[in-house]
Amino acid sequence: MKKLFAAAMAVLSFAAFAQSYPSKPITIVVPFVAGGPTDRVARDLAEAMRKPLGDVSIIIENVLGAGSSIGSNKVAKANPDGYTILLNHIAMASMPNLLRNMPFKIDSDFEYLGMINDVPMTVITRPTMPAKNFKELRDWLNANKGKINLGNAGIGSASHLCGLMFQNAVQVDMTSIPYKGTAPAMTDLIGGQIDLMCDQTTNTSAQIEAKKVNAYGVTTAKRLTTPALKDIPTLQEDGLKGFEVTIWHGLYAPKGTPPDVVTKLNTALKAALKDPDFIKKQEALGAVVITDKRVEPAEHKKFVAAEIAKWGPVIAAAKEYID
Ligand code: ASP
Repeated sequence: MKKLFAAAMAVLSFAAFAQSYPSKPITIVVPFVAGGPTDRVARDLAEAMRKPLGDVSIIIENVLGAGSSIGSNKVAKANPDGYTILLNHIAMASMPNLLRNMPFKIDSDFEYLGMINDVPMTVITRPTMPAKNFKELRDWLNANKGKINLGNAGIGSASHLCGLMFQNAVQVDMTSIPYKGTAPAMTDLIGGQIDLMCDQTTNTSAQIEAKKVNAYGVTTAKRLTTPALKDIPTLQEDGLKGFEVTIWHGLYAPKGTPPDVVTKLNTALKAALKDPDFIKKQEALGAVVITDKRVEPAEHKKFVAAEIAKWGPVIAAAKEYID
C-alpha cells in the first residue's frame, strides 16, 4: 500500500512538474564557439522557441572542445528536467565513430527532441588564393602538396568531415588546423593564415557575398538558390563525382526528461520551424528548415542511427581517432 502511494505521488509530482514547465530560463548548450554557424542556428532558434514556450528566457552556453563531445557530455549528465538541452549537428553521428572512449551513449543517454535544419557546405579559400576557378584550384593544390593548411572545428566536426571527404576526392593530403569552432577559423582564413576550409553556409554566405573569401563549390547535388550562393558550382559539376554532404542540426535533452516536457519542447521546436521570421533567416544563410517527419523525436533518432552507419567507413578510412 505504501509503495503504491509513493508511486502515485511520484506520478502526480511528475505531472505537476511538467504542467508548470518551463518556469525558469532554459539553457541550450552549444558545443562550438560563439559567433560560428552552430551558435548562429542556436541563437535564431532560441528566439523562435521563446514565445511558444510561454516567453521563457533561453540562454545559450558555449561549451567547447574535443569535437563537441565535452558540451554533449555535459548535457548527457545534466539534470533531466528540461532546463539544460543540447543543440548539436552531424557530430552526433561522427562522435560514436571517432571517440575510442565515448563518455556517453548517443542512443541511450538522450531524449531526442527533433531535427532543426539541413545546411549545405561550401569549399572556400583565403582571398589571396590565385586560383580563379575550381580547375585552377586543383592545379594549385597539386602544385602545393605538403604545404596546404586546412582549417576545421576539431576532429569530428562538420568541417573536419567535409575536409576528409575533400582531401579524398582531390587526392591531396592537407595539414589539419583545428579550432574550437569555425568562427575563429574563418578569421584566420580571411587573414590568410590558413588556405582552405569547408564549412556550413550559415557561416560562409555573408563572407562569400562580401568577397572576403573565395568560393569554389557547394556540397549539394543542385546549385543553391540563396542569392549569395547561387553562382557557386556544385562540387559534382566541378568534377568530384558523388560529392554530397549536408549538415543537419538537432535538439537533445538528457535521458529521463519527463515525456510531457519532451513533448513541450518538441511542440515549441515545430512552432519555431513554422515561424516565417526563422525560416527567412535560415533561407538567407542557405539552410533549409525541416518540414518532414525527422522533426519527430523517434524519426530523428532513426535518422541519427542511419547517419552513424553512413559515416563509419569515411572515418575508418581516414584513421583519425580521439583517445
Ligand atoms: N562549423 C563548425 C563545424 O565544422 C561548428 C561551429 O563552429 O559551429 O562543425
